[in-house]
Amino acid sequence: MQGVDLHTHSNISDGTLSPELLVQAALEKGIHTLALTDHDSMDGLVLAEKVAKNQPIQIISGVEISSQWSRPSTKKSYGVHVVALNMQSPDPLHKLLEQQKIIRAERAQLICELLKPLIGEDIYADVVAKVEGIPDRVTRTHIAKTLVEKGHVSRPQQAFDKYIKEGKKAYVQFEGLGLEETIHVIHKAQGFAVLAHPTRYDLSATNIRYLIEIFARYGGDAVELPPAIEPTSTRQMVDRMIAEFGLKVSVGSDFHGDNMPWIKLGNIPQVKEGQVGIWESFIV
Ligand code: AMP
Ligand code: MN
Ligand code: MN
Ligand code: MN
Repeated sequence: MQGVDLHTHSNISDGTLSPELLVQAALEKGIHTLALTDHDSMDGLVLAEKVAKNQPIQIISGVEISSQWSRPSTKKSYGVHVVALNMQSPDPLHKLLEQQKIIRAERAQLICELLKPLIGEDIYADVVAKVEGIPDRVTRTHIAKTLVEKGHVSRPQQAFDKYIKEGKKAYVQFEGLGLEETIHVIHKAQGFAVLAHPTRYDLSATNIRYLIEIFARYGGDAVELPPAIEPTSTRQMVDRMIAEFGLKVSVGSDFHGDNMPWIKLGNIPQVKEGQVGIWESFIV
């Protein structure tokens, strides 16, 4: 499974490398199976495939979909990312992504509106300038970078902590499709549904467990393994849930280029004995 990276971003979303340069970088790292999984967009795929042609690398179609789930007992809904991989008939997914892009563009505007009274200026134009003027590519990473450049905070993380993460004044939830429906659309597109970074949603252990359980019940295929930097106990907890609910595993670095320089392309966690990689099911 060395040489596999199934979660990466290009500058089609909040990565810094173009899809073409991402493939080049992957080739240099000896990666032979690469999924480009931009946020709510598959627009980078053709560009990546063009560079990969006649090279020793397989590009797996992918996208990281902003979805949501809730507990029946409470009204609160939680954001969740579902990575869709290896679509054989992507049309149903393309239709969903058109909708997601509208939501993303409107949300960017709304976040900037909410920021206005807090920072005393309108940064919308600068934010959109970061994504070649295409508003449906705006992520909170771009908004955080703009807040740094304009001197409102000193680091992107501070922008999240002060303004745009959940619970803060300029936080706007991504009102994406529900988890069950998202998995359904991925399957209609004949792809695999992967629960992205289950331990990165600020959820209690009970809620992580519940999320993995419903993900399995809704027909989800695999869970992403936590990166090696996370505590062993966290990894063990996720391993137990994967085994209990009969899920496969996926591996990805969540590479974002210089936006998150500590994450290295191709740096993926080890698969434990008995775990089945989702890549073994790929049709290439
Ligand atoms: P969005 O899809 O617009 O909500 O942006 C999500 C992206 O913002 C994630 O993929 C991360 O790259 C980044 N992000 C989310 N939460 C945080 C956080 N608390 N600190 C830093 N970056 C974050
Ligand atoms: Mn991101
Ligand atoms: Mn994510
Ligand atoms: Mn990601």
